[in-house]
Amino acid sequence: MQLFEHFPLKDRHTFHIDAFARYWADFDSVEALRSVLKDPRFATLPKLAVGGGSNLLFTGNYEGLLLHSTIQDLEFIPDGASMVRVRAGSGLCWDDLVEATVRRGWCGLENLSGIPGNVGASPVQNVGAYGAEAKDCIVSVEAMDVHTLEMHTLSNADCRFGYRDSRFKKEWKDRFIICYVTFSLSKEFKPNIRYGELTRHLEEQGGVTLEGVRQVILNTRAAKLPDPEVLGNAGSFFMNPEIPNEQWERLRTRYPDMPHWLLENGRVKVSAAWCIDKAGWKGKRLGNAAVHDKQALVLVNVGGATAGEVTALCEQIVQEVEGMFGIRLKPEVLFI
Ligand SMILES: Cc1cc2nc3c(=O)[nH]c(=O)nc-3n(C[C@H](O)[C@H](O)[C@H](O)COP(=O)(O)OP(=O)(O)OC[C@H]3O[C@@H](n4cnc5c(N)ncnc54)[C@H](O)[C@@H]3O)c2cc1C
Repeated sequence: MQLFEHFPLKDRHTFHIDAFARYWADFDSVEALRSVLKDPRFATLPKLAVGGGSNLLFTGNYEGLLLHSTIQDLEFIPDGASMVRVRAGSGLCWDDLVEATVRRGWCGLENLSGIPGNVGASPVQNVGAYGAEAKDCIVSVEAMDVHTLEMHTLSNADCRFGYRDSRFKKEWKDRFIICYVTFSLSKEFKPNIRYGELTRHLEEQGGVTLEGVRQVILNTRAAKLPDPEVLGNAGSFFMNPEIPNEQWERLRTRYPDMPHWLLENGRVKVSAAWCIDKAGWKGKRLGNAAVHDKQALVLVNVGGATAGEVTALCEQIVQEVEGMFGIRLKPEVLFI
């Protein structure tokens, strides 16, 4: 375990905005985590788990203890003839896990290639991309209750996963520190390429293979999304809103080209990026914060942005999109 005081956060979150944490602890095992949490110095301080900081915006200094997992274990457990279970430490880089499973020919995580961050955060917001979500493969999550210091094994059903959502963001917020996540993967390749864009690229490549899907997704992401090491950002800043069908029926008469997806629950998901673009925000700048010029869903730090500038930009977009479409955008990024 390593403990730091007055710890700089600029390189610990992908927006790269200046801020400090009163304490930062790296823990590499369940026992190390328990010993930090037992330390009386931290008893009354707020505590938060942080992974790669790719879904966070620090709006000021953090006057508490940030807990960063460096648990790197990776265990493969046979599960019948056609399946395998993978138990991964929360401190592993997410894409290293995806790469390791694809290399072994195991199917399930390939569409989630290239998502920044660590394994521990994957169940929190149920990471998703290209028609797949972490919940499709998660079997269980092993996490420590910060109050009782007991470990719990939480099943997929316990976590109540939803679109970029889980109980870790609701009633379990600030309660659990995730140490391991177990995934169930298939040894048979069952491609999930509902996205037309993927199919086209794979056809150009001459066929659909597990490695091919990963590579096409990595290339597509690199072409579309700004690299946080070059231009600070946290990926999609807003979630795609889900609206009632009646509202969609009214909107479609006015905006027939609005991208949308009909959901099983009768609601309609619409594209937040399209709304932001239509409201004229794509490429616009406010101080040193801006809307990316290729992807309207991504807010960027063009250099030296303050959290206040990013927040102000976010608020103005929310207001204008609401005024224009009657839809209130919700940030996907967590404000700390
Ligand atoms: C360029 C870019 C592209 C992105 N693309 C996608 C995408 O396609 N799909 C997608 O879903 N997301 C995407 N994201 C968002 C982000 O990568 C994911 O949300 C990722 O899972 C965050 O991981 P992290 O380790 O950085 O978590 P952090 O940002 O550090 O934390 C996120 C949340 O998880 C909690 N958390 C982290 N670790 C633990 C732990 N061990 N125990 C308990 N709670 C924990 C934190 O408290 C916080 O609430 C993108 C981000 C960027 C910068």
